[in-house]
Amino acid sequence: MSKIKENNPEYFTDWKYAPSPESKDHIRLQNRYELFINGKFVKPNSKKYFDTINPATEEKIAEIAEANEKDVDLAVTAAKNAYDKVWKKMPGKERAKYIYRIARMIQEKARELAVIETMDGGKAIRESRDIDVPLAANHFFYYAGWADKLEYAFPNRKPQSLGVAGQIIPWNFPLLMAAWKIAPALATGNTVVLKPAETTSLTALKLAEIIQESGLPEGVVNIVTGFGNTGAAIVNHANVNKVAFTGSTDVGKIIQKAIAGTNKKLTLELGGKAANIVFEDAPLDQAVEGIINGIFFNQGHVCCAGSRLLVQEGVAEILIRKLKDRMETLIVGDPLDKNTDIGAINSKEQLSKINEYIKIGTNEGAEIFQPSCSLPKKGFFCKPTLFLNTSQSHRVVQEEIFGPVLAVQTFRTVEEAIEKANNIPFGLSAGIWTDKGSKIFNMTSKMRAGVVWANTYNKFDPTSPFGGYKESGFGREGGLHGLAAYLNF
Ligand code: NAP
Ligand code: MG
Repeated sequence: MSKIKENNPEYFTDWKYAPSPESKDHIRLQNRYELFINGKFVKPNSKKYFDTINPATEEKIAEIAEANEKDVDLAVTAAKNAYDKVWKKMPGKERAKYIYRIARMIQEKARELAVIETMDGGKAIRESRDIDVPLAANHFFYYAGWADKLEYAFPNRKPQSLGVAGQIIPWNFPLLMAAWKIAPALATGNTVVLKPAETTSLTALKLAEIIQESGLPEGVVNIVTGFGNTGAAIVNHANVNKVAFTGSTDVGKIIQKAIAGTNKKLTLELGGKAANIVFEDAPLDQAVEGIINGIFFNQGHVCCAGSRLLVQEGVAEILIRKLKDRMETLIVGDPLDKNTDIGAINSKEQLSKINEYIKIGTNEGAEIFQPSCSLPKKGFFCKPTLFLNTSQSHRVVQEEIFGPVLAVQTFRTVEEAIEKANNIPFGLSAGIWTDKGSKIFNMTSKMRAGVVWANTYNKFDPTSPFGGYKESGFGREGGLHGLAAYLNF
């Protein structure tokens, strides 16, 4: 039993929630998935397939086709033909009808998509059901609305589509990232070749089925699955006019080098190491919920996760006690269970990376806290972890871990909080917790972060632009800014 449980027996009775797993009866999955090129599912020229597994059970779900350079070439050629012959000529109001239809079909299949997202990627069903899938539909709805209003979005300018957009996405929000990329590209009259991450291709392929069923003209959206080489083949293809990448800073740098000297347009959404900054006048219980939501839900697999906590000295002790108490109540386990707070880590590799960082943090001399919960025997799971007494130079403070690990520091003055929050290579997001509006405005203007949340965390809306500073990348997705990234003027 942990110290907290021993000292507060009244809070910790031995009752447990009864299991409440979401049903899998209604989902439809094939044993094998092909590439989606020119409106059809086709076998890969590589003749190779790879397995996608459920990270919570380590069981194989399906086989996925691996696209080689030839397959990517077929996909880009299909996208270019569709662009030249159909899509760029189609009036915006006609394009909008298809995008609306895709949005509606995502809503109709929301339960199926949520369950598959959770099975393939490991995130808790509550997250995929309440956040990923509804937001994915919202992105299509939002951008459908702009398709015939581009002249109003950019008055006195002449918005022109670019051509073929090559889009590469990571494993943390598989369907949502596909929606972030595809919806604005279609609304602005571009065609698409998209590659999902190798561990989470399934919802992108379900989206391909939806796109096929929607009657979208052949070749307007192509989805090719595979590994890093497949992504590189898209980036390097001569007929790709725009590259939109979300993923790690390392791969972002490779892509930027690869397209230097070409006239391809580029947006990069990369890593993050956001700070939640809690002032003495903050509503502490609310802040604790925001911190928990910011780093532990979704297993910390969020680029804008609040993976650092900066707390003002006067409230540090009480806030950390409240945080530890709340961590004791978190349920880690079956991602399909509706009570689960923290699901499975996406892959074995990611789990070993997180465990490596937990060792690094301990060796650096930080004090570690993990709640007394037990982890399932099978699957890739990690306890929510706090590192206390960390300093700015610690690697667990500077580097992106992409797991449920929170590094805690204290500060005395506003200036010190700003200095510590900004003094890292990333600049994607930040959170500020205070009772004073003036303090919020002062802080937001000084934070080198693309998104700053105040008295809340991890809130998303398709109308709001999102993107980073420094090594978190450049370009914006969402809102009007997200349209501009797919247009020439
Ligand atoms: P990753 O390793 O960079 O992979 C991202 C995508 O790029 C995957 O589809 C990957 O394919 C592909 N890829 C790998 N090497 C490539 C290459 N040389 N050329 C072209 N494509 C290549 O990132 P990840 O591990 O999947 O995702 C985690 C990272 O994404 C974190 O750093 C996180 O912060 C970042 N992220 C950022 C945002 C944002 O908006 N800023 C949002 C979500 C995630 P494979 O999967 O087959 O390797
Ligand atoms: Mg998987």
